[in-house]
Amino acid sequence: MPAGRWTQQEVEDLVYQIVSENRALPQLHIPGKSQAAINNRRRRLKITGRLGHVFVGRKLKPWTIRELKHLRSLTIDYGFSAEFIAQLQLIPGRSKHAVGKMMGRVGLGNPAVKERSRQAHRLGPSRRLELDQYLIGDGRLTPAAEVSRQWGLAQKTVNSYRRRLGIPLTWQQARSSEECRRKQQACARQFVERTVARWREWFGRKTQSLKSLKEKMEQSPSAPPHRACRNCGENWFASPEFFYAQTRTVGLRRKTTMSRTCRLCRSVRQRSQAFSPCG
Ligand SMILES: [Zn+2]
Repeated sequence: MPAGRWTQQEVEDLVYQIVSENRALPQLHIPGKSQAAINNRRRRLKITGRLGHVFVGRKLKPWTIRELKHLRSLTIDYGFSAEFIAQLQLIPGRSKHAVGKMMGRVGLGNPAVKERSRQAHRLGPSRRLELDQYLIGDGRLTPAAEVSRQWGLAQKTVNSYRRRLGIPLTWQQARSSEECRRKQQACARQFVERTVARWREWFGRKTQSLKSLKEKMEQSPSAPPHRACRNCGENWFASPEFFYAQTRTVGLRRKTTMSRTCRLCRSVRQRSQAFSPCG
């Protein structure tokens, strides 16, 4: 019998703990089963509907190509960190953890920052103890920037260790981290402004080119039928220049669907989605 096999009794027991006792994952216990195994089983029970509405769980939202392109540009062109991207919600709805994980998966991110965070995760218990002793003793007056360089940690981490040890930040340290935060925010605002300005320019050119294309097509005897945009009401033509079209293969057939809103309105909507949290 495979080691991971669940008996009917074990499954019933788990369902009882989740549904009747409303327990969270750390409080679920089935003898001989790991927490990962319990979590997996819980997820499968949820999918099959055994749990009713008791355990909703987290729904994974796959990343879109657009989000990935945006992430590439934010990290490569602007050098933004996962924390910064999440803080300003530059990719709406994605947490710092989600952004960081995706950056790791697709090999993005600043190598220096990545190395520092890798090191930070590797500060084992004994090394951590050493650092605490250093912070209380010899390193008491050493600036956080210096400590972070020596120990391969983020400056913020050093500050937070100090706070936990009850060592108050000097006003210079407090000011420099506040200043850093303000600088970051100003930089992000500029980024958003620049991007929106670039988009506006593009949008003006796009509007012009679609209008002149429409005029040309009006003269053509072989033009496709007219198609009005559901949003702005402009009477364009039913062609991919004006409306986003998608072709999918369903079984053996290829099915083409055409957006009901024109490319211009679609772009306005996407832009406002991408930047709405910053106004
Ligand atoms: Zn439109």
